Amino acid sequence: MVSDDSLRRRQAVKGKVDHSQRQAAQLCQLQTLLTEVLSSNPFYAAKLRAAGVESADDVATLQQYTDLPFTTKQELSVDQAENPPYGTNLTYPAQRYVRVHQTSGTTGERLRWLDTEDSWTWFGRGWEAVYGGAGVTGEDRIFLAASFGPFIGFWSAHEGARLLGAMAIPGGGMSSVQRLEALAFNKATVLVCTPTYALHLAEVAAAQGLDLVRDTSVHVTIHAGEPGAGLPATKARIEQAWGARCFDHAGATEVGAWGFECTEQDGLHLNEDQFIFEIIDPQSDQPANEGELIITNLGRTGMPVIRYRTGDRVRWHEAGSCACGRTFRRLEGGVIGRLDDALVIRGINVYPSLIENVVRGFPQVGEFAVHVRRPGAMDELEIEVEVEDGAEAVVEGLAAELYRGLALRPRVRAVACGSLPRFELKARRVTDHRQLGQNG
Ligand SMILES: [Zn+2]
Repeated sequence: MVSDDSLRRRQAVKGKVDHSQRQAAQLCQLQTLLTEVLSSNPFYAAKLRAAGVESADDVATLQQYTDLPFTTKQELSVDQAENPPYGTNLTYPAQRYVRVHQTSGTTGERLRWLDTEDSWTWFGRGWEAVYGGAGVTGEDRIFLAASFGPFIGFWSAHEGARLLGAMAIPGGGMSSVQRLEALAFNKATVLVCTPTYALHLAEVAAAQGLDLVRDTSVHVTIHAGEPGAGLPATKARIEQAWGARCFDHAGATEVGAWGFECTEQDGLHLNEDQFIFEIIDPQSDQPANEGELIITNLGRTGMPVIRYRTGDRVRWHEAGSCACGRTFRRLEGGVIGRLDDALVIRGINVYPSLIENVVRGFPQVGEFAVHVRRPGAMDELEIEVEVEDGAEAVVEGLAAELYRGLALRPRVRAVACGSLPRFELKARRVTDHRQLGQNG
């Protein structure tokens, strides 16, 4: 016998309720969230009251919801800096929280994010929808090819696998060769990693004489952290290398696992059962067909985000429901990019402003230039610096300092003074050869 509750959950997981039912449910969840945060979350209580919201009744429609103030990453970052270690966006006393994670931000805007038992399960359910979209079931064996550090992505994917009833195989603390061995030995059927790393593993496999199609059981790969799996050419390369279907997924530490591809692979579904989404023009803040994605998460009451400016550039998929039967709206081509032009290198956000900040700390360096290339499957970052005297020491010191700041090892090369371009107005020091279609 199927209980009402499990039936409801199944419908919710599949995202098949109609639009008006969904909006009514979103409003109800939103009001519950507002009531909670107004009573005990210092960050949002102050923010909402300043905007004239005294109780959840002041947001009686989704139209009124769009009058609520935005939340920015900068704001959260300042709050955490002023109220260490976790800031004031906490709805409950510290002892209620069971998980701590940290964003991979490299600008000094590194956020720490807490989850309660309930919100952690909620995050895992988001991943359950990601797996469900890709046709992954409890019969599957899911290999998570990443180090299990403070970054939330793989922990939440692991939790989602547990909720799905699938076998989760953590791939932390291993070399690429060891990961391939573990993946084959455990007969993993699903691979979760960044798109870049899926291609790198394929290169390593080829060097080892391992035929991924013949020697492994992987039939689905799921990727996040970079736009790659949403790019047709990268997706095709991964699918060819692994003999598997490659799925894009989108999520964020401070938001949750909010987007996924279904087996129709015609856009990125938005999980509207658990989040409210808008797209706005980032200049005018008005609704737009293409622009910045704004998200409220509805099930992470302990540390929520309300009308959060994700900085992700996205575009609505043309109207019409998906052939998979889900009524969740879709984004065309997933996340197109970041509004702030962060360079994504090996899955890590690298901000040109941070590179500049490090380079400018070396007075011996004149002009500099940044090149990002992908000669093989892995991205490479090269910094060219003009140095007059003591080039070797400067190059060494700068490489070490950049490694400390960026968490990846760039190549630093000294070039002759005066050899790099000069600029009169806005500098264009960054050349992303991957976007130009140049690989060398
Ligand atoms: Zn679909």
